[in-house]
Amino acid sequence: MDHSFPPENRVDVLIVGTGVAGLVAARQLQRAQRSVVLLDKGRGLGGRLASRRIGSATFDHGAQFITTRDARFEKLLREGEEAGMVTEWCQGFSGLADGHTRWRGQPSMTAVAKYLAQGLDARMEMQVVAVRRAEDGYSVETQGGASFHAAAVLLTPPVPQTLALLNAGGIELDDAMRKRLGAIEYERCIAVMAVLDGPSLLPSPGGFAPTEGHVAWIADNEKKGISSEPAITIHAGPEFSLENWDEDRVTVGQRLIDFCKPWLGSQVKSYQVHGWRYSKPVRVDGETCAVIDASPPLVIAGDAFAGPRVEGAALSGFSAAEVILAGLLQH
Ligand SMILES: Cc1cc2nc3c(=O)[nH]c(=O)nc-3n(C[C@H](O)[C@H](O)[C@H](O)COP(=O)(O)OP(=O)(O)OC[C@H]3O[C@@H](n4cnc5c(N)ncnc54)[C@H](O)[C@@H]3O)c2cc1C
Repeated sequence: MDHSFPPENRVDVLIVGTGVAGLVAARQLQRAQRSVVLLDKGRGLGGRLASRRIGSATFDHGAQFITTRDARFEKLLREGEEAGMVTEWCQGFSGLADGHTRWRGQPSMTAVAKYLAQGLDARMEMQVVAVRRAEDGYSVETQGGASFHAAAVLLTPPVPQTLALLNAGGIELDDAMRKRLGAIEYERCIAVMAVLDGPSLLPSPGGFAPTEGHVAWIADNEKKGISSEPAITIHAGPEFSLENWDEDRVTVGQRLIDFCKPWLGSQVKSYQVHGWRYSKPVRVDGETCAVIDASPPLVIAGDAFAGPRVEGAALSGFSAAEVILAGLLQH
């Protein structure tokens, strides 16, 4: 046995990322009696399922709602509903009910990640910098100098970030895989969280997607039922976000607030801006995950594989767990 890894850093499966894909995969693997550690560079669980507080105002500033088409994911959501992690927000916006439930986290989106992470060993503020091949599996290094040994590795960051980790560890991809993964592209999104001094003019249920202009989405978190005071989330469209990415964020945030004046109806007391560099994949892969090596398993998953939404990330997580379990049996 290699003694350079402390026992708590030796696992069957090391998962990079505590977004939906990583958490769903971890639950499946742990249920199959595999030891699992998740590492995430963030302070909070959930990745793009993100919520923030400004004073007593609460915002969902990443994913806004969850939809489901797949029976397996629907079952997971229903279990979560029973456990109080999600609740129905609405069945459509702008008075157009289409019969499809939009779920929201309870009390906010990060609750979904917290629910999924129950019983898992998720270690936060651990930025992975390289993944290398090692005897009987892989070694994974973090920025803080920690090293892990794993019989299998699952990578769930946005694909360009995953490729950088493989590159840093000297793991080469064949031409077909490099081309396949290199074709996955993401939109950016500049998000503004604004606290209002009174109610907004957005009609119930509090979500609206303008069909023209620079704003793609505007939501009233109070009407959504997650904030105790008026709190607006604004998502800029992909073109505006790209063009203004390097501009001063306070100035860009104010411009977005100005675009939304017709829906605000009250003064902005304070605001914060967050940039999502990898917001949603615009080109999604044809498979539900990418298998770099079947055994020992090295697999890539996330919303870039099974659909650019929370459900896609979950389905990719299910798929990656199956591939990893099969690969571990062979090894
Ligand atoms: C603004 C916005 C609005 C959206 N709206 C919706 C919506 O309404 N409905 C919907 O279904 N979907 C929506 N989405 C998409 C949805 O959020 C994603 O599809 C889904 O959350 C992706 O999950 P994931 O697990 O694939 O990736 P992520 O959630 O991105 O998880 C990846 C994790 O990897 C971590 N990580 C990255 N690099 C490293 C590293 N080197 N070391 C350690 N950890 C690392 C990150 O911190 C992150 O936690 C939206 C996304 C955004 C940004």
